Amino acid sequence: MVTIADLNADDLQTLRNKVLGDYEAFRARGLQIDMTRGKPSPEQLDLANGMLALPGNGDHFSEAGEDARNYGGLQGLPEVRSLFSSIMGAPADRIVVGDNSSLALMHDCLVWSLFKGVSNEIEPWSQQSGTPAFICPVPGYDRHFAICEEYGIRMLPVPLTGHGPDMDMVEELAADPDVKGMWCVPKYSNPSGEVYSTEVLERLASMRTGAPDFRLFWDNAYAVHHLTVHRHEIANILDLCEQAGNPDRAFVFASTSKVTLAGAGLALFASSAVNVKWYLARAGKRTIGPDKLNQIRHVRFLKNIDGLHQHMEAHRALIAPKFNTVIEALEKRLAGTGVANWTKPEGGYFICVDAMEGTAKHVVDLARQAGVVLTPAGATSPYGRDPHDRTLRLAPTYPSLQEVRLASEGIALCILLAALEKHCT
Ligand code: PLP
Repeated sequence: MVTIADLNADDLQTLRNKVLGDYEAFRARGLQIDMTRGKPSPEQLDLANGMLALPGNGDHFSEAGEDARNYGGLQGLPEVRSLFSSIMGAPADRIVVGDNSSLALMHDCLVWSLFKGVSNEIEPWSQQSGTPAFICPVPGYDRHFAICEEYGIRMLPVPLTGHGPDMDMVEELAADPDVKGMWCVPKYSNPSGEVYSTEVLERLASMRTGAPDFRLFWDNAYAVHHLTVHRHEIANILDLCEQAGNPDRAFVFASTSKVTLAGAGLALFASSAVNVKWYLARAGKRTIGPDKLNQIRHVRFLKNIDGLHQHMEAHRALIAPKFNTVIEALEKRLAGTGVANWTKPEGGYFICVDAMEGTAKHVVDLARQAGVVLTPAGATSPYGRDPHDRTLRLAPTYPSLQEVRLASEGIALCILLAALEKHCT
């Protein structure tokens, strides 16, 4: 395939007509495929079917003999906290187990910081003179941005570089006392798939912040979600913050939503001892305790950290072929055309495509007309506005392999057609 930019007007028109014909043929197939959200497929959920019968009649006591059917146990059962200690990078006494959604824990931490403050010694963010702002690496997770929008937190986009956010920009922005926090998905980021480098982590942990009550919202949602045999590890942000003299800087979140059951997993929080005390004081006002039967169910099913990694291998066997299929389709149709770049993630749930500038919305529209629903263009930027109108987020886990193959062929066609149409106008 020749680079589109090198074609003369006649050749461009000829190619456009050919690609339009291919697109019409694709549309005529009348497909209906949803590639919008990073959901586990039914087959992935089936891997955890064994949990549905757990903990079993009569098996409702924790290791310490507590009755898990009853109220209480706000911090979560110690055996569950121990199970996730290496993933959270904190000892069991600095981990809290919530109910099924880590997004809910992030929401709570943000709202508590706004209305109660991050400690007794400092005013709540909402009562300080400026408008609180968050640094938002882009492309990022739309639901993080939605929380900020909901509570009037200004969002300050910072580009990702392939190994984490542009740290020169982050350090400059963080010097402003109104900048209270930053979203980070440090491993297999949503949607770029990148893994933050150790240098980035060290700079995040040690940078000077204008706000003494600045917090990193460290969303390690894809901590164990590898797509290759290489299990990427990142440095421990809690340790780095402590070593840098900022022990309370990071709130760490994760969950088993994409390990066991997306609608019935366990959400996890870890931080400094001071922050865990703060968290529990707030959480104790909103609940008498979490679902400890689900906690027991998880320990019985996963058993230990090796059991968890083995379980993730079974996920990998199901989803890695889907990612490969998308990348093959993009390569087949678009390699050498100069109209798009795409990621080849080694973990996580997304492939990120940068289409030709000014065409992402058109690509999503063309795909929709051909029966393939994509995440709206702009969703990966704060306020849903992609200033370049180029980033597309592909989520290949949920549809079947055959559907992913068909959809990716169609998406590649739409990307090419949108670029050709832009060139021809
Ligand atoms: N964080 C990120 C980066 C995600 O991509 C997702 C889901 O797609 C979540 C959090 C949601 O996590 P949970 O199911 O634990 O609320």
